[in-house]
Amino acid sequence: MQIKKVGVLGCGLMGSGIAQVSATAGYDVTVLEQEQRFLDKGFAGIEKSLAKFAEKPDKTGITPEKVKEARGRLKGVTDRNALADCDIVIEAIIENVEEKKKMFSALDGIVKKDAIFASNTSSISITEVAAATKRPDRFVGLHFFNPVPLMKLVEVVRTIATSDQAFETAYEFGKSLGKVPVRTSDKTGFIVNRLLVPYLLDAIRAYEEGVGSIPDIDNAMKLGCGYPMGPFTLLDFVGLDTTYYITHVMFDEFKERRFASPPLLKRLVMAGWYGRKSGKGFYDYKDPNNPVPCF
Ligand code: NAD
Repeated sequence: MQIKKVGVLGCGLMGSGIAQVSATAGYDVTVLEQEQRFLDKGFAGIEKSLAKFAEKPDKTGITPEKVKEARGRLKGVTDRNALADCDIVIEAIIENVEEKKKMFSALDGIVKKDAIFASNTSSISITEVAAATKRPDRFVGLHFFNPVPLMKLVEVVRTIATSDQAFETAYEFGKSLGKVPVRTSDKTGFIVNRLLVPYLLDAIRAYEEGVGSIPDIDNAMKLGCGYPMGPFTLLDFVGLDTTYYITHVMFDEFKERRFASPPLLKRLVMAGWYGRKSGKGFYDYKDPNNPVPCF
């Protein structure tokens, strides 16, 4: 099946990025939000990002003309009926299983029958959300990474019910966005979080056990392993609240200590220290260019 029109649900951090890369790849994109003000905010972010890309057209391939074309392909709506003729609908609303099920179940009766549904969830079971529709065979996970316009990877997730045709169409769609797709199955955390989350939690445990200070552990992993940033810098970037939520879902699925939240993570979240976005986490971001360790 050929994809021409893309629907995106939610215009937050991820939805706006998915809409942007879809439009620059040449697709017509309709983004659904709850209220106009969320669309305005998301579209302002898209404008800013596109303008940045257009500053270096030699490197990014995004010229001012391409920006203009992409802008023309993007449409924001608050009425879900506007998604009826989409070929693929990618969901990026809040990480709440009931909300996602409600959304897809309503869209199932609106969007054309052969369209593919995809969720960008980081931790919720694709199978469970797909079961809220009458098209579990045309339901996949498309897990993008933040910031979407810059991060090359997309995990393409199949459930036991996903058809080969829907899976391959979604895989090729990921490629057409300029991403590198990897194939994975509907196991909580997929590939990246399955391996990354225990590593991040172990870094916190290492600090709790006195193995090293926060900057020393960060520097050790950065310089010793060639990682672009250390685990605490990364945790603050991802958001400690998000990580804490994911640990719950993963621990619930696997019942293994490596997925359990260390006490310090819980305390930081309870205190409202969510990382960069709240100004404080493992580091203090009063001066964002010069973070100072909080412990
Ligand atoms: P976000 O809070 O920035 O955006 C969510 C948006 O969805 C909000 O703008 C909200 O108004 C909108 N929304 C909520 N309910 C809606 C509804 N019923 N209809 C239309 N719009 C609705 O969240 P985010 O960080 O963009 O995350 C979105 C999804 O992407 C989540 O499932 C998350 O797990 C996943 N994800 C996030 C990241 C990340 O780094 N933030 C990475 C990969 C995947």
